[in-house]
Amino acid sequence: MAQSTETDWVSRFADDVIAESERRAPGKPVVVASGISPSGPIHLGNLREVMTPHLVADEVRRRGYEVRHLISWDDFDRYRKVPAGIPGVDESWGEHIGKPLTSVPAPAGSAYPNWAEHFKAQLIESLVELGVEYDGISQTEKYLAGTYREQILHAMRHRGEIDAILGRYRTKDKAAGGPSKKTQQKKVDEAELEAAEGSGAADEDDGAGSAGYYPYKPYCGNEGCGKDLTTVTAYDDETTELTYVCQACGFDETVRLSEFNRGKLVWKVDWPMRWAYEGVIFEPSGVDHSSPGSSFVVGGQIVREIFDGVQPIGPMYAFVGISGMAKMSSSKGGVPIPADALRIMEAPLLRWLYARRRPNQSFKIAFDQEIQRLYDEWDALERKIADGSAQAADAAAHSRATRTAARELPRTPRPLPYRMLASVVDITAGAEEQTLRILAELDPADPLTSLDEARPRLDRAENWITSQVPAEARTVVRAEPDRELLESLDEQTREALRLLLADLDAHWSLDGLTTLVYGVPKVLAGLEPDAKPTPELKAAQRSFFAVLYRLLVTRDTGPRLPTLLLAVGADRVRTLLGG
Ligand SMILES: [Zn+2]
Repeated sequence: MAQSTETDWVSRFADDVIAESERRAPGKPVVVASGISPSGPIHLGNLREVMTPHLVADEVRRRGYEVRHLISWDDFDRYRKVPAGIPGVDESWGEHIGKPLTSVPAPAGSAYPNWAEHFKAQLIESLVELGVEYDGISQTEKYLAGTYREQILHAMRHRGEIDAILGRYRTKDKAAGGPSKKTQQKKVDEAELEAAEGSGAADEDDGAGSAGYYPYKPYCGNEGCGKDLTTVTAYDDETTELTYVCQACGFDETVRLSEFNRGKLVWKVDWPMRWAYEGVIFEPSGVDHSSPGSSFVVGGQIVREIFDGVQPIGPMYAFVGISGMAKMSSSKGGVPIPADALRIMEAPLLRWLYARRRPNQSFKIAFDQEIQRLYDEWDALERKIADGSAQAADAAAHSRATRTAARELPRTPRPLPYRMLASVVDITAGAEEQTLRILAELDPADPLTSLDEARPRLDRAENWITSQVPAEARTVVRAEPDRELLESLDEQTREALRLLLADLDAHWSLDGLTTLVYGVPKVLAGLEPDAKPTPELKAAQRSFFAVLYRLLVTRDTGPRLPTLLLAVGADRVRTLLGG
């Protein structure tokens, strides 16, 4: 296949990122970054914050450059809100609001030491499955270790200039509702709004206070408080002595900022400080980041004027929506996280969704019937890749989905159509022996010999059926024939059933049964089996199929008939159709 990577958005950003990195830091690894606030479940919208730089980083690696993809865990952010619907969490978590996320207890029953670690772990597991390589940086560790000491003291010395930069936006900012990078993430999806509420430093005050402007906020030193409801009341540039008072508990103290670590820069200063500190070349952010007063825009001025750095290339990314997440699986506050998607689709499919759309295009991740069409589309793309007929951009997206610079992602050896696998496990309720029998009969010339050949796609389809398809939409094959219905059938329909049953064994494969069920109404109409369908014939086929569904599964519709017949088995088909 021709190399086609010049044509997609990932490749274009990779060009820019390499050029910028060579200009700014020749010979050094290329640095791209993502910022994640583990304030609650990290949902599929937030995954775009990681996947966008990941895909660019991966392209840069493919071209032979060394890349660091930083994931900045903003776990030293304040706990803002108790998200709804989290198992093991009740209102009592409200008492921790204002503490760093790493000082809040994990949900009851968690294996992790604190709130931030609990929600980070869920994402980390999915990132491994998705093939995302990154350097994780805990901001709690960095701040508590004093890593940013010089930058903090520098920001405090230049607080007047920072205040002036922020001041240019404060009034406009108010009018615009003061969007910040993390506020934008909240808008990702109606359904996601609730859980994202807790997200990070949104709406955080920018350091302005009655006692003057300070870009630094300590967490209260009173044991049993530890909150950030503190106000800096004095600071001495010479001695670095800082005095604060806690609004929550009344505690006050004077510390030396040259040796004090229990606090952080306010978000609008923290973010550009880290761009400069890490030399970030590429970092995307949520929609509308370019509005006046947003953290990205203000950060661009602060990094240049205060920290002598350069703003990264920073595309905005649009919403990621969800279609049809079943209520019954909303065990995490109703907001699907990457692990939920990876239970019903393979990792390359999920990567493909992020790779094929430009960051500024929104898209939806299907948890409903739409996932079957998505898989059909994917299989069609794979066929085009195999025969060399894929468009260059489609081929590039496929390549980004199926492998990284480091490795090929696991694939299903025999990728049978997802919708068929879903139908089969729907009917067999996952019984392995029966599932293997049916799948082996699909293609008698090259039968499946083990379910492992159909995995992991088979497992994903089974998870989809059991977690997302409501009970009333599941297929239940009749145990006994519907005698009443059989006796009420007209002679024409009885003849159709006789024709079907007479040829059943000779057509016992997916292709054979497809020919048979469409062919019986043709034969009855006096047409050749390969006759072109007329409107009358189509109507006859439809009513024949409806009778078959009623007799087999007591409904007017169901899985595709050839699949259904194979799944039910020849003997039971004969019994239920009155043969
Ligand atoms: Zn306090």
